[in-house]
Amino acid sequence: MEKFSDLKVRPETLQAIQALGFEKPFPIQAKALPYALAGRDIVAQAQTGTGKTAVFGIPIVEKVGPFTKDLQALVIVPTRELAMQVAEEIKSYTFDPVRIAPIYGGVSIENQINDLRQGLQVVVGTPGRLLDHLERRTIDFSKVRMLVLDEVDRMLDMGFIEDIERLVSRVPRQRHTMLFSATIPAKIRELAQKYLHDPADVSVRIGTLAAEKVKQYYVDVKEWNKFVTLREILATQPIGTLMIFCRTKAKAHRVGANLQRAGFSALSIHGDLTQAQRTHALTQFREGKLQILVATDVAARGLDIEGVTHVMNYDLPDDLDSYVHRIGRTARAGKEGVSISFITHEDHQIFRKVMDLMGGTIEKMDVTLPLGVGERPPAGWKEERPPRGRGGAGRGRSFGGGRGGGGRGGRRGPPRRGRRPGSGGGGQSHHSSP
Ligand code: AMP
Repeated sequence: MEKFSDLKVRPETLQAIQALGFEKPFPIQAKALPYALAGRDIVAQAQTGTGKTAVFGIPIVEKVGPFTKDLQALVIVPTRELAMQVAEEIKSYTFDPVRIAPIYGGVSIENQINDLRQGLQVVVGTPGRLLDHLERRTIDFSKVRMLVLDEVDRMLDMGFIEDIERLVSRVPRQRHTMLFSATIPAKIRELAQKYLHDPADVSVRIGTLAAEKVKQYYVDVKEWNKFVTLREILATQPIGTLMIFCRTKAKAHRVGANLQRAGFSALSIHGDLTQAQRTHALTQFREGKLQILVATDVAARGLDIEGVTHVMNYDLPDDLDSYVHRIGRTARAGKEGVSISFITHEDHQIFRKVMDLMGGTIEKMDVTLPLGVGERPPAGWKEERPPRGRGGAGRGRSFGGGRGGGGRGGRRGPPRRGRRPGSGGGGQSHHSSP
């Protein structure tokens, strides 16, 4: 399939796709949509940014029967943000008033019960809250005909396997099932065998993914001079919007607060915030009212935020998948992006694997700190570093993402904000508590 108009869909659906401005199907869509629309089960290796949501979103809007309020399509996703985003995206593929809602935890269950009572045809939910509704008998899976398991690798990482098993066991066996995952290790193959019937295997190699368009840099740092290095980069690089990833909630919070204190337009999102706070930060960021969003992996998982120009690994993640997911936040939908990873001594082992995965295309960026700043740990400095998980570093995926070099080197541009870079010594910033 080369054009959306080759698809066997209603003209209204084609119009909706056109209205979104999609000109050509992305590779995963070209491969998988014909199967998905024909009702064939699918196992797709695809990460966020590849356009995978359309692969199930379009068949869902095509097939949801308008004359019944029964729950017909169930999409299970790992996080609340993803639930909201996917529900919105599915809605965008139709002009029909499809009754669809995200169902996730951390917010009042009463409104969801009301919505469900009035009849939802499509639910995009997170495992815990879906189970909660099942137990309360406020959701009924008996008429579900389409089941989508999205970002399955992440759901397993988050310990949702039993929840997923319980949920799927309640969905009728006669159904159309689609499974999406950025990686397909043996465990996910097993799940696929158990839940899917003769699935078509569709995957897009990383070479065809958004990651290909990301210019990747690394910066050698010490744990204690990360913040001052960040400030220096902000003062010298032409950064539009920046998403910063931290290892822990506490750190995301602290980096966000320190950036605010330093006069930047920054907010953080992490699991300790209320849903309203997270939604506020995301909306601000999406609308371009916020320059910097600091996040943990879990909070940022799967978010589709348009036009992020830079992604920063303030802390390198524990596994290759997260690295790929993170840099996938930039260079979305045909745009170019930049990623910058801070590498400390402890990161070298995992970073070598990242380098291998990316075919050695990550360039070093030299950041010169003001004289005397950040060379030694500041007085009272304590390393707070939770032990590294075993992560997926050894998963041995062969992405083979070779990419020609080129692009900008680690050169320094003119300071953007006229501030004195690194003034105030970053060391202390690490210690200011939120
Ligand atoms: P996803 O991987 O599903 O999260 O999609 C990533 C982004 O690409 C979303 O903003 C989609 O709206 C957008 N997108 C999906 N398919 C296409 C397409 N064929 N052309 C342009 N943009 C697309």
